Amino acid sequence: MRYDWIFFDLDNTLMDFTEASKLAFSSAFQTLGLREEEGHYAIYENYNHQVWLDFEENRIDGITLRRKRFDDFMLAVGIKGIGGLEFNRIYLEFLVEHSFMLDGAIPLLDDLKKNFSLAIITNGFKEVQRPRLDRLKITDYFSAIVVSDEIGVSKPDAAFFDIAMSACSFPSKDRILVVGDSLNSDMKGGVNYGLDTCWCNLKKLPNHSDILPMYEIHRLDQLHELLD
Ligand SMILES: [Mg+2]
Repeated sequence: MRYDWIFFDLDNTLMDFTEASKLAFSSAFQTLGLREEEGHYAIYENYNHQVWLDFEENRIDGITLRRKRFDDFMLAVGIKGIGGLEFNRIYLEFLVEHSFMLDGAIPLLDDLKKNFSLAIITNGFKEVQRPRLDRLKITDYFSAIVVSDEIGVSKPDAAFFDIAMSACSFPSKDRILVVGDSLNSDMKGGVNYGLDTCWCNLKKLPNHSDILPMYEIHRLDQLHELLD
């Protein structure tokens, strides 16, 4: 075996964040008594993407991230009378409720846990990341769970990986594989930290970045091939 540890990103690597988020957004609209229109979610996603980039580059803090993504969206579409933090709170409650694994993720974990130590390294909110793992009953697969919002640093920051290493009792760096869907956080963070990386590119997106993951897979089960 080339590795002892697999460091998994969570969202859109093991869990279907895309679908869960759309459903949580719609549920929040209903709860708030608002009418969701075609295109609302895409507009929200644009703002959300931008504030996450700002957050990962340390330009804004976590409260601003939670508030601003919904404030910017509501300003753009003319929704008034609701605070961004309130919208965010309701959205996050539904995000936990609408938790799904990606196809093949549970069989993959069942198989890998026989031969590897598994860890979660996730950029996400403390209100939801562990509750989502618990809801899907997958917490026990992982020897370590590192949530950016709990520790105050995010991938790709080296300080995030320092804490992940500590949580795993400092395995040798060359015995760790980082698996994730994001070039900017998972792959960049892993490469810069000197870890082997596998880009979980399920949507077969082109790589226009200067980040070069060691491996690339298009289906979760392809991970077996590079771990044998
Ligand atoms: Mg992800």
